[in-house]
Amino acid sequence: MSYDIVIRGGEVIDPSQGIRRICDVAVQGDRIAAVEDSIDASGTHQVIDARGQLVVPGLIDLHVHVYPHSPFGLDPDSLCAAGGVTTMLDAGTAGSYNFDAFRRETIDRAKTQVFSLVNLSCIGLIAANLGELLDRRYADPDGVVSTIARHPDVAVGVKIRAGTHIIGAGEQGWANLNDAIKAARDSGTWLMVHIGESPMSIPELADALAPGDCITHCFKGGSTRVTDDAGRIFEGIHAAAERGVIFDVGHGFGSFQWEVVQAALDQDLEPTTISTDIHTKNINGPVYDMPTTMSKFLMLGTPLERVIEMSTTRPAQILKQEGELGTLKVGSIADIAILEQHSGRFIFTDSYKQQRIGEQLLTASTTVRRGEIVPGGGGLRMRHLAD
Ligand SMILES: [Zn+2]
Repeated sequence: MSYDIVIRGGEVIDPSQGIRRICDVAVQGDRIAAVEDSIDASGTHQVIDARGQLVVPGLIDLHVHVYPHSPFGLDPDSLCAAGGVTTMLDAGTAGSYNFDAFRRETIDRAKTQVFSLVNLSCIGLIAANLGELLDRRYADPDGVVSTIARHPDVAVGVKIRAGTHIIGAGEQGWANLNDAIKAARDSGTWLMVHIGESPMSIPELADALAPGDCITHCFKGGSTRVTDDAGRIFEGIHAAAERGVIFDVGHGFGSFQWEVVQAALDQDLEPTTISTDIHTKNINGPVYDMPTTMSKFLMLGTPLERVIEMSTTRPAQILKQEGELGTLKVGSIADIAILEQHSGRFIFTDSYKQQRIGEQLLTASTTVRRGEIVPGGGGLRMRHLAD
């Protein structure tokens, strides 16, 4: 049997199948064809020597910004190559007025699988610095529902940035939040809420959310966070996590504080998903890419398999793609990230300019998207070791 690609000798980690061992992975067309201890690669078009590297499902970043008409928007395909991210969720950079163009110009043209949330604000984040929901006329729950109905294959949920400087204080803040919740319910999808300097406390917010809804920037510092002044996780936060509310990292420019994440991990509040919130203002630090954000959790003591699970299998479940994406199951889409594990002393920075030293750094060396090796970034860094 000859294959299009055989990836030889890497340490395969696939939490969806409970696999962690050294073996080979074969790709035929756009599908995973085999995962076996030793695959005959004779006649295979491309053989990737992955010895000494990790072979994992293509990474899924549940919080990115790739709508180009926002000052935040990055190019999805270059993120894919550089970070091993084959699937990404745009976190509501576009709203009901500009989503059709976002789809036409970006989502449909990208090789990367891009899903998206629809912002409650009809204009999305094209002028995010002005506060997209300070004027209540911009809240468009019906437009969100009709946008999702027009694009059910890519528009998978609703987004609101619940900061007082964005949605307003008091009653206005709640009115905007309730509109976003209504849009999620009426569209049969889920809501991602960005927290930070919010007009409600985080336990109040968590109470308002249903299982399957998501709090992003869950380890943010500042005035509204998941810990009280003594650094204890609020009881309501644990209760929400047990009910199935999703806690997403969304590292970002201002949303990841060592003290908060450490307190959370110490008190058994694990994030559901690791994501970057990567955009134009943090790609050159402190975020850089998905493997760097994952490496921060390795530094904090989260086991490697969990880190991979939070970056592949779990976001695939949230996107309702678990049979196809975030897995190396035979027959699933051939999205694969080959990660290099570097040892040394690496400086990691949170969103508050605080540094910590970690001893492992993951980088993407080769990325396969739908059965093709992704050019650019780490994608051409092929390694062939002599025996
Ligand atoms: Zn964001």
